Amino acid sequence: MPLWGTAQDKQYARQVIEKLTALDMHGRGYVMDGDEIAAHYIKEQMEVHGALAFDYNFYQDFSMTVNTFPGKMKVIVEEQVLTPGVDFLVKPSSGAASGNYNLMWTDWKALAHKEADFTMTPSEMRKTLMVVDPSGAETKEEKAFVQSLWGNPLGLVGVIVLTEDKLTWGVSQTQNPYIELEIKKDKLTKDTKTISLKIDAKYNPKHRCQNIVGFIEGKEEPDSFIVFTGHYDHLGHMGKDTYFPGANDNASGISMLLDFVKHYADYENQSKYSIAFIAFGAEEAGLVGSRHYVEDPVFPLEQIKFLVNIDLLGTGGEGITIVNATKHEKEYNTFLKLNEKKKYLAQVKKRGPAANSDHYFFSEKGVPAFFIYTMGGITAYHDIYDVAETLPLTEYEDVFKLITDFVKELEK
Ligand SMILES: [Zn+2]
Repeated sequence: MPLWGTAQDKQYARQVIEKLTALDMHGRGYVMDGDEIAAHYIKEQMEVHGALAFDYNFYQDFSMTVNTFPGKMKVIVEEQVLTPGVDFLVKPSSGAASGNYNLMWTDWKALAHKEADFTMTPSEMRKTLMVVDPSGAETKEEKAFVQSLWGNPLGLVGVIVLTEDKLTWGVSQTQNPYIELEIKKDKLTKDTKTISLKIDAKYNPKHRCQNIVGFIEGKEEPDSFIVFTGHYDHLGHMGKDTYFPGANDNASGISMLLDFVKHYADYENQSKYSIAFIAFGAEEAGLVGSRHYVEDPVFPLEQIKFLVNIDLLGTGGEGITIVNATKHEKEYNTFLKLNEKKKYLAQVKKRGPAANSDHYFFSEKGVPAFFIYTMGGITAYHDIYDVAETLPLTEYEDVFKLITDFVKELEK
């Protein structure tokens, strides 16, 4: 660490990631005020480092619908209590469940060929779950058919789809009027005829959420902005005892975003242009925060010279990918050249436009934007294993340097 000014601060980044992933932030989601607590912490950090607020307010509020799982999350199969997030997931759009249910094992192939005979009284239907084992679905059509069974085509009380894959969770803005469960295949055998469930699902029609926006004024052209963005929300809780920490997704990006605030606030590093920092809420629910922002920007979108969105920055052993690289060839080449010259990363991979993070609605509005994510290392993603302890931050310093070098090039 040099005595003059502040360079990238990996230790600080670690500290931020630990904070954001701790139990008291509840997976920065939709129960126990997780996202709000995280928002306050981020605002406070921006302030501490010297960022300014537009109109004296760091927050931009909005409201949204969301399905939540704040309470009980119990799945019992033949007296064995399954572990949430390890043995099963409740689908983000699932309705609530309570009681003992019968299982109806369904052959998806027979259903696909409309060969399944199905006779059940309405009262039987209300206590029967359809179980689907998608094994053998190989072609695109077969996979699509199995996927369509999540729609509960027989109109039963719910659907269970078995899986051998990694469990990957999400957030839904709607709630279906039936139960949806994904269970590890080895947890349920064909002899199993009943299941006991207690799942609290609560649909919130008006969840209050916020983006956090700050800036550091530019030395020469304060009305032109370089913008750094990243989402601070994650998936929250699946039941009161299980939460998704989201270390890589995206405590890692927020740690660098706050480190950028620290960096540019230092007089030594002050930019010619103003630098804005936006931490978005509700990305995981479908880019809700950033969509809200572009519809009601805090300063005109035309004043943005370039936007860099960072999401999933915790690795880097295999370099980075730049989304929108094909759209902004010149800027992509700047990244390539800097990386070659300074030998920062194994590769700077090019990718076309994609609606996969918060840069998307800015791009749609004509704002030049990149989305950068790191590659290699961990495979944890949208699961309970995305934790701070195993997040390597392999190339944290080099990614930081590459991006700040890029900003210097934009200043030329
Ligand atoms: Zn993310």
